[in-house]
Amino acid sequence: MNELEILKQYWGFSSFRPLQDEIIAAVMNGEDTLALLPTGGGKSLCFQVPAMAKEGICIVVSPLIALMKDQVENLKARGINAVAIYAGMGKREIDILLDNCIYGPVKFLYLSPERLLSDLVRTRISYMNVNLIAVDEAHCISQWGYDFRPPYLQLSSLREIHPNVPFIALTATATAFVRTDIQEKLELKEPKVFVQSFARKNLSYVVIDLEDKYKKLTAIVTNVKGSGLVYVRNRRETAEVALFLNRNGIAADFYHAGLDKDERSRKQSDWKQNKIRVMVATNAFGMGIDKPDVRFVVHLDLPESLEAYYQEAGRAGRDGRRSFAVLLANRSDQQSLKAKYTDSFPSVEEIRKTYHHLGSYFQLAYGAGAGVSFSFDLADFCKRFKLGVIKTIGALKFLEHDGYITLSENIFLPSRILF
Ligand code: ADP
Ligand code: MG
Repeated sequence: MNELEILKQYWGFSSFRPLQDEIIAAVMNGEDTLALLPTGGGKSLCFQVPAMAKEGICIVVSPLIALMKDQVENLKARGINAVAIYAGMGKREIDILLDNCIYGPVKFLYLSPERLLSDLVRTRISYMNVNLIAVDEAHCISQWGYDFRPPYLQLSSLREIHPNVPFIALTATATAFVRTDIQEKLELKEPKVFVQSFARKNLSYVVIDLEDKYKKLTAIVTNVKGSGLVYVRNRRETAEVALFLNRNGIAADFYHAGLDKDERSRKQSDWKQNKIRVMVATNAFGMGIDKPDVRFVVHLDLPESLEAYYQEAGRAGRDGRRSFAVLLANRSDQQSLKAKYTDSFPSVEEIRKTYHHLGSYFQLAYGAGAGVSFSFDLADFCKRFKLGVIKTIGALKFLEHDGYITLSENIFLPSRILF
């Protein structure tokens, strides 16, 4: 069967989406691939289809149990043999599962990056006939990303185990910093990079500057039909807003990281199954939530960064239908966010001093002679130090460029974009 036949037979889709077929072709060709597609763009098929077309097993690294479960269940429902190692599984259970991956017909093994730190798992993987290593949510490897997960840094060690198996890294992150970081940290070999436009045509972005947010929220929730998400900044507010919506006859619930695990997963599944129409949440409600028919995402508070906003708002309209991303903000929100940054990060002057201080080490390390006036190129500096060095110095997370402090490539603070 060729790739298109696999798509039809197992998924029942008639054609590939833009870039999917090119990405799949690169993978089939044995090349390392980096796929940057927006949320909902169809990244899973980019590794699932070629893995089905090849002999052997595909190892999928995924940061969250919810994501793994979703994908494994999805594959199983299509008659594909997929397994995942979850936290809480017994040793014997894992043993049998790994055996099935070595001797049995398993096509996909999902695991967290933490699992790969275990010698047992690594040894067993070395006996598997691996056809592809897929790193999903690959931005987790980058300190510059939205969800840094240190164990992702170990992933390149899979190279030692299976030096000839191609890697595919997938993410919806658009920034060049993160992209370069992924390439370097995963040690991708001359990767084929595919970038799809991050514009979401079916998503209408609306920013409304107003004082009475609750009134507007009621109007949105009443006028836009279907399932929705409301993001607020703190836990207390999630309950308040949910209660407010309930009082207005809307089936709403709240979610934040302070709730216990069972409660969180119950709430999440109620919302997913449309028993609850609107979920009011902090940013703890996010990654791993794959609900295609979310019609609106309302932010009652300003998110911390544009990237965070893009990710959160992007949870609307994954099915391609018309959806709304509404940001309700006013002057005082802007001021408090600004103050937060001013308070928690050093001033430009301080950053500059630190860089110069670092510059003298840089000089030593690279042997510039005494008396040589030394000015260094920040981008080059960051490259050589692989960015990670900066992370270790206090609260320094910034790069400075042309008088702007940049949080990541396209987020400037204080910037004309946010303020
Ligand atoms: P991503 O990981 O990029 O956010 P997913 O892989 O979860 O996106 O896919 C999003 C949705 O798009 C899924 O419901 C998937 O079944 C659907 N999809 C992906 N590729 C195709 C295709 N070629 N034709 C139709 N639907 C597709
Ligand atoms: Mg995905």
